[in-house]
Amino acid sequence: MDTLVTAIDVAIPLHLDSTYHYLVPPELLSEIAVGKRVLVPFGRRRLIGIILGQIESAEELKPVLQLLDPEPLLSPDELEFLRWASSYYLHPLGEVIRAALPAGLLTPPRSGDDNSSTPDHRLAIQREPFFRVNSASEAHPRMGARALAIFSAIAATVELSRTELRRQFDEPGPQLKRLVELGLITREEREVYRDPFREEAVGRDEELLLNEHQAAAYCALTEAVHANSFAPFLLHGVTGSGKTEVYLQSITAAMEQGKNALVLVPEIALTPQLVKRFRRRFSCGIAVLHSGLSDGERYDEWRRIRRGEVSIVIGARSAIFAPLSHLGIIVVDEEHEPTYKQSEGFRYNARDLALVRGKRAGAVVILGSATPLLTTVHGAQEGKLLRLELPERVRGLPLPTITVSDLRGRRGKVIAPTLLAALRRNLDAGGQSLLFLNRRGFATYLICGDCGHVIRCPNCSVTLTYHRRADRIVCHYCDYSLATPKFCPACKVGSITLLGQGTERVEEELREQFPEARIARMDRDTTTGKGGHAKVLKGVEDGTTDILVGTQMIAKGHHFPGVTLVGVIAIDSILNFPDFRSSERAFQLLTQVVGRAGRGDNPGRVVVQSLMPEHYAIARALAHDSAGFYREELLFRQEAGYPPFAHLAALHFSGNVEESVKQGAMGAALLLNVLRSSRPGRVEILGPVAAPLSKVRGRYRWQILLKCRRRDMLHATLKAFHDGWRSPSGIRTAMDVDPVEMM
Ligand code: ADP
Ligand code: ZN
Repeated sequence: MDTLVTAIDVAIPLHLDSTYHYLVPPELLSEIAVGKRVLVPFGRRRLIGIILGQIESAEELKPVLQLLDPEPLLSPDELEFLRWASSYYLHPLGEVIRAALPAGLLTPPRSGDDNSSTPDHRLAIQREPFFRVNSASEAHPRMGARALAIFSAIAATVELSRTELRRQFDEPGPQLKRLVELGLITREEREVYRDPFREEAVGRDEELLLNEHQAAAYCALTEAVHANSFAPFLLHGVTGSGKTEVYLQSITAAMEQGKNALVLVPEIALTPQLVKRFRRRFSCGIAVLHSGLSDGERYDEWRRIRRGEVSIVIGARSAIFAPLSHLGIIVVDEEHEPTYKQSEGFRYNARDLALVRGKRAGAVVILGSATPLLTTVHGAQEGKLLRLELPERVRGLPLPTITVSDLRGRRGKVIAPTLLAALRRNLDAGGQSLLFLNRRGFATYLICGDCGHVIRCPNCSVTLTYHRRADRIVCHYCDYSLATPKFCPACKVGSITLLGQGTERVEEELREQFPEARIARMDRDTTTGKGGHAKVLKGVEDGTTDILVGTQMIAKGHHFPGVTLVGVIAIDSILNFPDFRSSERAFQLLTQVVGRAGRGDNPGRVVVQSLMPEHYAIARALAHDSAGFYREELLFRQEAGYPPFAHLAALHFSGNVEESVKQGAMGAALLLNVLRSSRPGRVEILGPVAAPLSKVRGRYRWQILLKCRRRDMLHATLKAFHDGWRSPSGIRTAMDVDPVEMM
C-alpha cells in the first residue's frame, strides 16, 4: 500500500488551467496555510505560487523550496471570491490571483539570486530609525549647542523620525549618534510606508443638509446598512444632483456601524476632486489606489488595507480586489463607464464584481450615475435592484438650455457660427466654456488630392491622424508615427489634403478667433506624465482657463461651477460605430457633457452641432428625457435580442497570418456548432467574421459572438468549448464573457 504524504495544491500565475501539487517538507508542516506564497520548482524554473489547500497524496512529488509568508496574503473567503471570478470568466485562477495582488508579489527571483533573499526584492519593506528621549535623561552639560537643540526637539514630542530630524537640522547624524552613545536617547528601526500623498493639507468640511430627494435616498441606504445584508441600489441622479453627498453620508452611517467602505471610480486621475472631498470629510485612514503609484507604494497601500489601518478604499477597477474586511458598503461611481471592464488578459468587469462581492459580504452596493447602463435600469425595473432617484439639481439649479446647430449642408470651419457667437458672448460675460470633440489630433484623414490614396497605419486597419504640433502622423492604436510626408506616398506627386477634425484643430481655430482668451486642451496628448490631468483640471477650477477643449476626458463627472457654456462639436461619429451599444454610448456621453454646464450660480447654456439631430439618442439627451430614451432603447434591444434580454460572450482569434486566423476561427465555429447541438437551449453563434478593427499591431483579428437568453446555457457551452478547444499554433484565442468592447 502506498503511504500518503502531506502535500499542497498550488495556483501558479501562468496561463494554465490546472493547479499543481507539491510535497511539504517536515520542517514546514506547522507553517503552511491557505493563502501563503511558496517558491516551487516548475519545469526548469522556480516560480512563486499561492497555497490553495492541503491534501494527502500518494504521488511522487517535488518538494516546496521555500515558504514566503508568515501570514496568508489572501483569506479563504477572498480566495473563494477569486475562484468564483476565475470560473465565471473562464480565466486561469493563478492569473486571477496575480491580478488581485499588488504587482510583483508573484514575480520569482531571477536565477542567480541567492536562495535566502526574499523574492519580492522590488517590494522591500522600508524601515526607518525613530528617536525618543530616555525617560530619566535631561540635557547634559557636555552636549554642545547643536546636540542640545536636537535633544530638545526630540524631547518636545514623543519621538521623531530621521527624515523629520534631517528636515529640521540638516545632517544631524553625528549628534544623534553621540546622544545615543551617551544613553540620552534611543534609536529604534521601524517599518514605514512610502507616503504617496504629500499633497497640500486638505482642510475639513461638514456634512451638508440634504435636500428632500437626497434625504429619501439616504434613508433607504442607511436602513439597508443597518439590516446587515446584501442590498443593491441604483442611485440615478441627474448631473449635479448631489450623488456624492449621498455616498459620503451613507459611508458615515456604515462606519458608525464599524464597517468599511470601498469606492470605485472610473479613473482616479480624472477624479481628484472626489478624492479631495473624501479626505476633507473623513479623518479615518483612506487608501487611494491609482495608476500613478509605484509598485512599492501600491504594496504599502495594500498592507495598510490588509492590516485594517484604513476604513475607506478609493480606487479604479482593480480596487475591487482590495483586501478590505468588514465591508459594509461598495460605491460604484459613474457605473456606466466602460473603463470598469478590463479588456485584456483577465477580462473582468469591476462593476459586476462589485455586486458579487457585495453579496458575499452582505454589503450595500450603490451603482451611481446620471446615465446608468441600460442593464442597470432594466434590473431595477425587474426588481433586482432598488432604484433611488435624484431628479433635480441641488439648490434648485436649472438644467442647462440647449440649442442645436444643424450642420447638414454646411462646410467650412469646425466651429459653426451659432457656437462661435455663443462662445463670444460667454467670453465677454466672463464665463468659462468647455468644448467637446471625441477625436484628438488635428486631422483624422490624410488623403491624396490627386489619386485619392488614404494614409493608413501599416500595423493596424485604421487611418493615421495628423498632429500639427509634433508635425507627425500617428496611429492611435499602436502609436506608430511618421514625419508628415510632403507628397502622397502612393503616387509620389499628389499633395495631401487634411480631412476630419481633432481637438488640436479646434484649439487652433479658437486661437485664431479669440486671441485674447486663455485656451487649454485636455486629451491623451496633453495629459501624459504624473499629475497631467490634475494640472489641466486645476486651470478650469481656478478660473485661469477660459476655454477648455477636450475629448471624453472632460465629460467625466467634473464639477466646475464657473462653466456656463458647453459646446459639442461632434458626437455623431459615435453613432456610426458598428456596435449595438452605440446609441447608449452617445446618449450617455452627450448627457454627461451637457451636464457640465451651469453647475454654479449662473445658468448654463449648451450648443450641440450635429448632422443627425433627430436621432433618438441625441434628441432624448437634449430634451433631458432619460426615461424616454431608456424606453425606446429597451424596445430595440428586446427586438434584436441583445443585452439585457440576452447574454453575450465573444471569442477573439488573432495571429500574424490572416488566412490561418480565419481558418482557426472557422474551426472554432465548427466545434461550437457540435457543442451546441448536444445540449438543450438556443445558443446563437454569430460569425466568425473579421473584427471591425481587423488588424491591430500587425495582428489580424477575427471574432465569434455567442448569444443566449439564458446565462447558464451560454456558460455551459463556453465551458465545454474552453475544455475542448486547442488553439492552432500561431493563433491566440481569448474569451470575453459579457464583452463591452465589440471592436
Ligand atoms: P453629482 O455627483 O450628482 O454630479 P455632486 O455631489 O458633485 O453632484 O454635487 C454638486 C454640488 O452640489 C457640489 O458642490 C456639492 O457640494 C453640492 N451639494 C450637494 N448636496 C448639497 C446639498 N444638500 N445642499 C447644498 N449643496 C449641495
Ligand atoms: Zn497602428
